[in-house]
Amino acid sequence: MRLILLGPPGAGKGTQSQRLVKKHGIVQLSTGEMLRAAVAAGTPIGQRAKDIMACGELCPDDVVVAIVADRIDQPDAKRGFILDGFPRTVPQAVALDRMLSAKGMKLDGVIELKVDANILYDRIANRVAEAKARGEALRADDNPDILRKRIEAYRVQTAPLVDYYRGQGVLGSVNGMAPIAEVAAAIDRVLDPAPAKPSGKKAVSKTVVTCCIWLFVVNALLGIIMIAWTGI
Ligand code: AMP
Repeated sequence: MRLILLGPPGAGKGTQSQRLVKKHGIVQLSTGEMLRAAVAAGTPIGQRAKDIMACGELCPDDVVVAIVADRIDQPDAKRGFILDGFPRTVPQAVALDRMLSAKGMKLDGVIELKVDANILYDRIANRVAEAKARGEALRADDNPDILRKRIEAYRVQTAPLVDYYRGQGVLGSVNGMAPIAEVAAAIDRVLDPAPAKPSGKKAVSKTVVTCCIWLFVVNALLGIIMIAWTGI
């Protein structure tokens, strides 16, 4: 299974990704995590990304596309993956389409987590408070000013992907403001919809067709019996 989770910072992509990873036995590929690891390791990519990430802007498309292309070729991604935080721009989505089709792969679904922007500030504030309480180091970009920039970057550069994937017929939208379990259930319904029951109109026309067939059969039988009876 190959999925994309789309949503602004704080929409719950990480939480839902981790659940989907367990449920489907796939790997979570978070470009944010990969970039933070590159920054921590001081690699050339990390050096390029460090200041950009710290001020809440998006890293260059070519950098991110290259790390994703490399990552999805790793053996643990063979069974499938969930892309968390990628693509974030239309050129990244186009590059992903090319990358997948070159490997004979396709996306199984794109889940959009719809969240009210005002809720995001509270969620990130909670996330920061909880991390502080656990004595964990904070992310360089987890502060209100940078968060505003990241949400704006999502609105301008990433939100157009909703239409992009709707056009491809692979988009499912879910209310990301519902409790975690409800969001999870809604995502599962998008990925595995129940077989549709025939609608009222369809059921009626099926009955009419069945009746017509039976009338035809009965008439034909009657005709045969009449012919046999009269001996003609
Ligand atoms: P995240 O952990 O997904 O919130 O990402 C943290 C930061 O990493 C973002 O604010 C960007 O600076 C950078 N980043 C992560 N993914 C991408 C991407 N697909 N394209 C560009 N920049 C990214």
